[in-house]
Amino acid sequence: MERVNVVGGGLAGSEAAWTLARLGVPVRLYEMRPKRMTPAHATGHLAEIVCSNSLGGEGTANAKGLLQAEMRLAGSLVMEAALRARVPAGGALAVDREEFSGYITERLSRHPRVEVVREEVGEIPEGITILATGPLTSEALAEALRRRFGDHFLSYYDAASPIVLYESIDLGKCFRAGRYGQSADYLNCPMTEEEYRRFYEALVAAERHVPHEWENLQFFEACVPVEELAQRGYQTLLFGPLKPVGLKDPRTGKEPFAVVQLRQEDKAGRLWSLVGFQTGLKWPEQKRLIQMIPGLENAEIVRYGVMHRNTYLNAPRLLRETLEFQGAEGLFAAGVLAGVEGYLESAATGFLAGLNAARRALGLSPVAPPEESLLGGLVRYLATANPEGFQPMYANWGLVPPVEGRMGKREKREAMYQRGLSAFARWLQALTPPLPAKAPAS
Ligand SMILES: Cc1cc2nc3c(=O)[nH]c(=O)nc-3n(C[C@H](O)[C@H](O)[C@H](O)COP(=O)(O)OP(=O)(O)OC[C@H]3O[C@@H](n4cnc5c(N)ncnc54)[C@H](O)[C@@H]3O)c2cc1C
Repeated sequence: MERVNVVGGGLAGSEAAWTLARLGVPVRLYEMRPKRMTPAHATGHLAEIVCSNSLGGEGTANAKGLLQAEMRLAGSLVMEAALRARVPAGGALAVDREEFSGYITERLSRHPRVEVVREEVGEIPEGITILATGPLTSEALAEALRRRFGDHFLSYYDAASPIVLYESIDLGKCFRAGRYGQSADYLNCPMTEEEYRRFYEALVAAERHVPHEWENLQFFEACVPVEELAQRGYQTLLFGPLKPVGLKDPRTGKEPFAVVQLRQEDKAGRLWSLVGFQTGLKWPEQKRLIQMIPGLENAEIVRYGVMHRNTYLNAPRLLRETLEFQGAEGLFAAGVLAGVEGYLESAATGFLAGLNAARRALGLSPVAPPEESLLGGLVRYLATANPEGFQPMYANWGLVPPVEGRMGKREKREAMYQRGLSAFARWLQALTPPLPAKAPAS
């Protein structure tokens, strides 16, 4: 049978290689470390965790909790290692990083169908291939990706604006409109002069995340963080992301003093981003500031803004929900390169890419999990999100359809969890050929 190439032995590539091997498909897993290191990795281990040792909150009201449960059902190696190496961390799944990546390295290196090749890959290999080289993809491969897909399909840093859940926006305080009467695609949160002044003062005083030395970025003018713009003067935001011109509030018939615009990010209209609000502020500060904006007092932030170095593809323009490239049968992407963020999300997309690369090797069509599952919602987002200014996404409840009915927030989350897990389990059971061997229970 054709040997499948997996490029990058991180969280995504390791899970992908494991899934392929479980399905009886031989794998060549390329990892450039330890010969060639990245600025963030410190060892030659596969699936090295570079920063926090947490794979996210657990529990039946938690979106990461649902993704963890789905991955356990799928027999994930990353989840198996996490449960063996776990350390106490309140409600989160945290791991001893040495034990975690040591275990994964050992399992993959000893697997008879996995050949680990310690080399940097500088060209997209021929044959069925998964690209999983992560946020610090080496320059040679990034160059090859640029040649193949074009410069504008590959980003080198995140300049992400926060995203809020539609159902948590107070629509009584916002109005729908486009600038100068253009199509009313935006939700607009108007501010009075007093509200703007208070917001501005809080913004200039807010605490920033301190990036690593090598992460320090030179921003293009279009991607300057909102806190940086505010430092330039009281008026700057009023001529930038908060400019009110051409936006008449239908309730007053006038232009407000300042306006924060929200743009729809997903097809279903559940996720709305704050336009021009790319920010590197600490997350509690982002929450405090966003909740000062009229209409967003109770906003649920499902994705916080970040500014850091990152390498990722414009997934909506390039990928299908099966993680296969459009128009390039047998070529897949996974992990951060495919447009997700987070250890768990990277591993989960590695699982799906591994499953689908195996299916191609076996002469079968690729598949995607149901939309009610977290993994299904995540890959649908990658394939169908607004491609303009596309930013990587992590697990959150806005990615799956809401449940109807009069319930409290927690009950709704728990209902979504149960529904998603059942749908995922049914999907897994219906797979042919079946996935052998489940991960052990914790
Ligand atoms: C500094 C930093 C901190 C982060 N902190 C967190 C955090 O705290 N929590 C969290 O959930 N997420 C964090 N992330 C985001 C993300 O979840 C992790 O980077 C995660 O490891 C991504 O998984 P991946 O498999 O896509 O990439 P990686 O795990 O980075 O794996 C990619 C692998 O490909 C290898 N590689 C690169 N280029 C080549 C090549 N040309 N040939 C062969 N091999 C190559 C690399 O050496 C690496 O081992 C962080 C990212 C960065 C950059």
